[in-house]
Amino acid sequence: MLHLDETEIKTCPLCVGFSHLYSVENSTAWNGEWIIKCVECEIEIRRAYVFDPTRKTGDREKNRVKREIIRVWEKRVYGT
Ligand SMILES: [Zn+2]
Repeated sequence: MLHLDETEIKTCPLCVGFSHLYSVENSTAWNGEWIIKCVECEIEIRRAYVFDPTRKTGDREKNRVKREIIRVWEKRVYGT
């Protein structure tokens, strides 16, 4: 299920279009993905993470990967 995240991120590095941050979780496989997509030109980047279904560790890994994908988008470095 695609979920729109409210965190503000910078505009698209290619067309300066408005960009959205989404999260997706697959509760069967216990993994998820962060996706940043430009509304204008539709380029996107994805970063996968593993989440703890028991939430014992909270959303630590999810939040770490969230910070990482935002950093990549805003620094305009891809393919890492
Ligand atoms: Zn764009």
